[in-house]
Formats: sequence, C-alpha cells, structure tokens
Amino acid sequence: MTGAERHTDIGTTDGLERLWTPHRMTYVTGEDRPDGGYERPTGCPFCRAPGLPPGESLVVARGGHVFAVLNLYPYNPGHLLVCPYRHVADYTDLDPAETTELAAFTQTAMRVVRKVSNAHGFNLGMNQGGVAGAGIAAHLHQHVVPRWGGDANFMPVIARTKVLPQLLTDTRDLLARAWPS
Ligand SMILES: [Zn+2]
Repeated sequence: MTGAERHTDIGTTDGLERLWTPHRMTYVTGEDRPDGGYERPTGCPFCRAPGLPPGESLVVARGGHVFAVLNLYPYNPGHLLVCPYRHVADYTDLDPAETTELAAFTQTAMRVVRKVSNAHGFNLGMNQGGVAGAGIAAHLHQHVVPRWGGDANFMPVIARTKVLPQLLTDTRDLLARAWPS
C-alpha cells in the first residue's frame, strides 16, 4: 500500500486520527525544547523548517514571503501552519506583501486540506503572545486546523497514543502534491 492510498480516507474513521494528536504531548511537556529556548532564530523551529533536508522537512508549500508547514504537534490530521520566513512575533510586524501572501496561503491550505480529507470545518487563527496560548510566541504562525464532526470527542481518549513520525511525512507528501503550483 502506498502512502497516498493509505491517506485517501484521511479524516474518516480510519486509524490516522487516533495516531496523530498525541504528538502534542511532547511539546506540552517541553521535552524537545532547545537549550536556548524558542525565542531566538537559532532555536526557532519555524526559522529552521524551510532549511531542513527533503524527507525530514514537513514544509508543504513555499511562497515568496511565507510557507506552509505541517504542524509537528497536530490537533488533527492535516493541521497546517502558515508562517512568514522572517522571525517576527506580532501580526502588525508583517509588511504588506507578507500579510497578503499569508492570507492567500491560508485560503489555499483550506482548499487543499478540504480536497484531500473532506474536512467538515476549520479553526483558523493566531495566538499572539504566550499569555494568549502561543507555544512559540516569537515567530508568528497562522493555524489551519481541519475539523470533522465528533473529532473533539475522542481526542482526550487517545491523548497518550504514540504517533508514528512516518505518517507526518506521508501526509506532507499528500498535501504537497495537492497544493496548486
Ligand atoms: Zn523564527
């Protein structure tokens, strides 16, 4: 079975959703937090993401000013983050070109995820500042979280399931192929 075949029914009742969400637990407990913290670009996963080698990178699409990357700690399968390349924290720090492309990438992310997963709805948004819930507050990121009816009901149940990292790269490939060039 290829990765694409395995993921054609992503978002339905197959095993993917059970395997995904728990990745958040590592993040929440800070186990892989870099020594210098996330605040500086050298330790910032959103500054590093575009430079990771193919096969390791979870970047789905690259624009001139922003990129879309699969969240390593997804709330749901297909949870994407749209980030500027620049290490800026606040939405008001974006210049007009970044602002426009971030909006366009958010729309494209919704279209692509809808196409491959039949998502019923989305949560979109940015947490601005640690007090508002931003995990990595120093580098702004727009969440695009696909939602399916009933998904909130089983998430707490599976919160300790171990995720298979390979699923993330398979899903990255699936979304990258569906992303319009
Ligand atoms: Zn950064």
